[in-house]
Amino acid sequence: MKIEIRTNRDTSECDTCGTDFAEGGSVLIDGKEIINKPAVAYCMGGRNYSPADLLVMALDKLGHTVLVDEDRYHITCDDKDYHRLKDDEDA
Ligand SMILES: [Zn+2]
Repeated sequence: MKIEIRTNRDTSECDTCGTDFAEGGSVLIDGKEIINKPAVAYCMGGRNYSPADLLVMALDKLGHTVLVDEDRYHITCDDKDYHRLKDDEDA
């Protein structure tokens, strides 16, 4: 199995906050894209995914849960797909 992470970057300018920077990208497994999370640099609601985040989300989608010190790997960005998959919400 070949896992390929392709990153992209985005920047934005805001008069109040200055320059914002984000990274994101996509993950291909054996040439098939299974994760596509483009970077969105924006002071409110921006999206930023490190290559490690992308890899964990890809593994998660394949059914592999990744834990860090017994807690599920934390994707810093609030990601619908990742958080919906395994976390049964109370609501
Ligand atoms: Zn701003």
